[in-house]
Order: sequence, then C-alpha cells, then structure tokens
Amino acid sequence: MTTAKPPKPAAKKKPARKPADPNRAWAQYLKRYRPGLADFVVNGLTGQYGEQTWHPSRLDPTSELILTILTQNTADLNAEKAYEALRVAYPSSGAPQVHNPDIGWGGTGLSTAPAPDWTAVEHAPLPQLTDVIRPGGLAPQKAPRLQATLRYIREQRGDYNLDFLGEMAPLDARAWLTSIDGIGKKTASIVLSFCFGMPLMAVDRHVERVSKRIGLIPEKTTADQAHDMFLELLPPERMYAGHVLLIHHGRELCHAQNPKHDLCPLRDRCRAVEKKAP
Ligand code: SF4
Repeated sequence: MTTAKPPKPAAKKKPARKPADPNRAWAQYLKRYRPGLADFVVNGLTGQYGEQTWHPSRLDPTSELILTILTQNTADLNAEKAYEALRVAYPSSGAPQVHNPDIGWGGTGLSTAPAPDWTAVEHAPLPQLTDVIRPGGLAPQKAPRLQATLRYIREQRGDYNLDFLGEMAPLDARAWLTSIDGIGKKTASIVLSFCFGMPLMAVDRHVERVSKRIGLIPEKTTADQAHDMFLELLPPERMYAGHVLLIHHGRELCHAQNPKHDLCPLRDRCRAVEKKAP
C-alpha cells in the first residue's frame, strides 16, 4: 500500500523590488568613493569667486520667464536687447523693476523700467512681434513661443501673474511651468530659483560641462536628468550658490576650449586633470 505524499507548501512570493533611483544611487556612489566632492566644489568656487547667497535680485516671475525664454540658445546680452525692445514697443504703466543680477548672469543687467504690457505682447500681430525681438536672435521661433506662453498663463490663471508659484512645493511649481510647451526644467528652475529662492538646479551648458569634467555627474547623464541628480547631490541651502558658481566658473576658467586648469581651485579633485582624482 502506498501513502500519498503531503503537498509541498507553496513557495513564498518575494516582494517585488523597487527599481533603484539612479540619481540617489549615484549620490551614494559618490558619498562612498569620492566623499565630500560636492562640498569641495562649492567651497572651492566660493573661495575663488566669493560667497553667493540668494536675494531678490530679479524681475517679477512672469518677466523673468519671458526674459529666460529670450535667453534660450542665445547670449544673455542679446536677450537683454530683445527684452528692452519689448518694453519700448509695448510699454505699460506698471512699477519700475530693478534688475540686479549676480555672477550667474552673462549680460550687463536691464535698465530700471516697468515690465512690458503682456496683453499687448500676447495679442500683437506675429510679424510685428518677431521684428521687435529680432535683436535677440531666433525671433521666428521665440515670438510664437512668447505668445503661446502668455496665452497659457492667462487661460489657466485669468491673468499673467505667476506669484502663486511661490506658494507651491518646488517640484510642483516646476511641473506647472514645464507643462507649458517649450518650457523645460532649465527655464522653469531659473525662474523658481531666482524669483523665489527655491532649491532647484538649472543645468545649462556651463553647469553640465564643468560638472562632468570634475566627475560630479556621470559623463552620460543628460541635461534633463542632471536637473534631478543635483537635487540629490547638494543640500537645498547650497543649491543657489552651486548653480551660480558653476555657471560663473564655466565662463571664467573652465572654458569649453582650453580650460585653465592651472588657475582652478578644483584641479586636485578634477577627473579631467587626473583620471583617478579622489
Ligand atoms: S581643473 Fe580644469 S577641467 Fe577641472 S574644473 Fe578646473 S578648469 Fe575645469
């Protein structure tokens, strides 16, 4: 007589593993193998260029957004010309605004004057607006973008005021702005960082180049991903300083061609100088 074997207990299901967050994983890698690197960079650049603290130095957020769109793929100096032309062509009776940019800005600063009349800009005939902002470069692309941006804000909010963003959590405010066609994380982060002091990193070509050379972010990181990676690398209170210092360093010493390693305070830990730098 054969006895039936008792059934095997069902194998326990392993809980599904959460996929690792690559930005956090990179921050942990640096912490382990190159400890203190981000602080070293910010401290070294602060020693070179001075302490950088956030202070309200810019325009209102709508003006800052329009000015930042005008800077896309063009020099800050040209964007200033286009913005001044908007003020002349579409004047408003608003309060004069002081533009007092810090070392991250590549222009000379705008004159003190009211913001343009945004209603007039939104509804201007497109060929006319294109002519007005032509000194800034890429006018045929930017004129419709300016109008679409202003239209979106007005349709969503009833007016052109973006002060409400200051009440939102930084990533929610960034998501609101990037839902506008043609506004990416860089433009959104500039507006939110400069206007409200939000701890967001705007990764422009200077920030990207300098960070990759040092090894602060991996070579293959896209600029889009780097925006979120920096949120893991720097504490919120160092984000603003990190941003303006990296941009300024890219302009002053860490040029795309012939970077001036000999004058650089970061050379001892820079992977562009020494592949195994600590
Ligand atoms: S050492 Fe050279 S490559 Fe590295 S951050 Fe300084 S200037 Fe740039």
